[in-house]
Amino acid sequence: MTLAQSEVSLRAVGVAESATLAISATAKALRAAGEPVIGFGAGEPDFPTPSYIVDAARIAVDDPAMHRYTPASGLPALREAVAEKTVRDSGYSVEPSQVMITNGGKQAVYLAFQAVINPGDEVLLPAPYWVTYPEAIRLADGVPVAVPTTGEAGFQVTVEQLESATTSRTKALVFVSPSNPTGAVYDRERIAEIGRWAADRGIWIITDEIYEHLIYGNAVFHSMPAVAPEIADRTIVVNGVAKTFAMTGWRVGWLIGPQDVTAAAIRLQSHISSNVANVSQRAALAAVTGPMDAVEEMRLAFDRRRRTMVRLLNDVPGVECPDPGGAFYAFPNLSGLLGRDLAGRTAETTMDLAALLLDEIKIAVVPGEAFGAPGYARFSFALGDEDLEEGLTRLIRLAT
Ligand code: PMP
Repeated sequence: MTLAQSEVSLRAVGVAESATLAISATAKALRAAGEPVIGFGAGEPDFPTPSYIVDAARIAVDDPAMHRYTPASGLPALREAVAEKTVRDSGYSVEPSQVMITNGGKQAVYLAFQAVINPGDEVLLPAPYWVTYPEAIRLADGVPVAVPTTGEAGFQVTVEQLESATTSRTKALVFVSPSNPTGAVYDRERIAEIGRWAADRGIWIITDEIYEHLIYGNAVFHSMPAVAPEIADRTIVVNGVAKTFAMTGWRVGWLIGPQDVTAAAIRLQSHISSNVANVSQRAALAAVTGPMDAVEEMRLAFDRRRRTMVRLLNDVPGVECPDPGGAFYAFPNLSGLLGRDLAGRTAETTMDLAALLLDEIKIAVVPGEAFGAPGYARFSFALGDEDLEEGLTRLIRLAT
């Protein structure tokens, strides 16, 4: 160990690297080195940002007012537009002053926990969960409490499960629908039930709505504070433009909370990063106020790929893949591939299996261990149709 390493703070040493970002980076590096790697790890749309949004940014670049700081809370026009968009898309009516613009949904997640968690507070986290939540909870000195859900139950948590995981230290619940990594979409009744339970218990809800527009088949998106208004004064909504508008690189998200929580998050922001890049905010303004046709086109492409992916994964002997109702991930059960001969090798865990798949058939997937769900893996369908079919055909050949 070098001196420099030994002096890294305990807090920083304790943070795990994002498994999903690491796997995407490995896949990209191998590909750049000429390996025929197909990446199913990506958590981002493969489409360019729609042109009307890029045009708005181009105009903003030339405006000297855009060369300055914005308020820490974000451009006033964008906060207003987000409030309007929220009532338009989810029926949840909020004031612009409850909205704060963040550097991506990820920073909104971080600030949400910073704003309401005290040291030792427990946060219920239905598993499988997105990799960032437990780390962001720990960075706020909170304690993540995983509440496991099963594939048979559609990866949806029940009030009974939440109740039995609740203690006198429980402060909040993380609620995500559509879910990363499972694609699960909760129905209205269950969302309302969970919201009412949380209101009775005095438990905060951090609800991540970033995949609200990526919904397929019979699934319908519902926002918890809209269907359970009794929890609205203890709810923080996290959202952003990244997934809906293919804008992952622009880094614009937001949180919506009660006035005092939003004000606290703005104070934190004022010392962390001051504000989101002005030009990016103008691009996001065009996105949330503009037509939704381009979004619908991307959604249709994702839906087509989703159906191909589910069909091909279910064709792999030993793999079971339920239909994801939303987001752009399939979350198949791969336990039937464990302990079996695959190209002369065997994997005992999905972590080993992911390494085997990368070595032997050059496909990159994120093992379930990263999401608190060993035995599963996340396959993103945010990649081109041809690559998707080729990668899954390799898997079928390997396992047959
Ligand atoms: N929430 C969820 C559930 C996500 O999957 C992601 C991106 N992987 C985010 C939030 C953050 O997105 P961004 O920071 O790019 O807005």
